Amino acid sequence: MANYLTTQKAFRSLLLSARDGSFSQAYIFEGVKGIGKYTAARIFANALHCTGDVKPCGECPDCKKHSAMTHSDLVIIGGGDTITVDDIRAMNEELYIRPALSDKKICIIRGADNMNDAAQNALLKSFEEPPSYAVIILLSENEKNLLQTIRSRGTKVVFEPFPEKEIQEYMLRQYPLKKDILPFVALYSGGVIGRAIAICEDEEFFETREKVFDAVSRLADDRLSIIKIAELFGVKCKGSYTNCDLYFELFTSFMRDAMAIKVGGRIINQDKEALIESFSSKVTLASVISIIERAALTRSQLNKSMNYELWITNMLINCWEDIHGKGSRS
Ligand SMILES: [Zn+2]
Repeated sequence: MANYLTTQKAFRSLLLSARDGSFSQAYIFEGVKGIGKYTAARIFANALHCTGDVKPCGECPDCKKHSAMTHSDLVIIGGGDTITVDDIRAMNEELYIRPALSDKKICIIRGADNMNDAAQNALLKSFEEPPSYAVIILLSENEKNLLQTIRSRGTKVVFEPFPEKEIQEYMLRQYPLKKDILPFVALYSGGVIGRAIAICEDEEFFETREKVFDAVSRLADDRLSIIKIAELFGVKCKGSYTNCDLYFELFTSFMRDAMAIKVGGRIINQDKEALIESFSSKVTLASVISIIERAALTRSQLNKSMNYELWITNMLINCWEDIHGKGSRS
């Protein structure tokens, strides 16, 4: 509980509803990856089961089981690449077994975006009309990934990014030894607490950024940069798409700063301003915008069934052509 930014408005109203009994039975928690949906869902579930006065009290038998992740009336599924119809059927079966320790059976579905239509249809009935003792929480990065029938049945709770100052203060409490980098971390995280933590936990973050920025800056120069960036994205070693988030993020961060320089906005990677400025001076605003959109589209379309190598290389060739024009060679 202490290890959480409790200022989140969505989170506070959830806790209140757990305390006064005004909670609903079917939820969709929406927010970007790393914003704290899962942590909030866990604490909310804990509060719903808690028998103490101020929920969650941390002292009652239910709270202790939640802390130890052994509460048998809490079911958590998802979190991997896909959620199949069989996963949902198994969850449904579990859901219809009455709670053993408490008066509520709570199901959390992580990465609900990864349910295909068949899985969502299998969920529909229990989501529409859950047993009286059930609470179902779907965690979604974008509720548009869910079928309209699911969306219309759930109480939507939106998790917004935290203000930069709050992230910085929170991180200072958690990572006092990283004090010097925290202003950057808070700005770079874009208010997403999980991102801020990931940077502080990643000993190689700044080294990786150095490599990616160096390679990306050359997109304005020679065509060989495509190969270099592709290598970094893990194409050469047949990288898997699941690990490419950081590369997309750094690539996009560089391009956003290049755009910020053009339009007079705030630069995030201030220590790399000279490098980004040099790149920015060689490209048009339209090409940078196109590259940012291209990267976002490619990332959203990537999935396990695709040829990762081909998609990344294709994206980079298109980015290069955004800058240098179609069919140009250098
Ligand atoms: Zn308790």
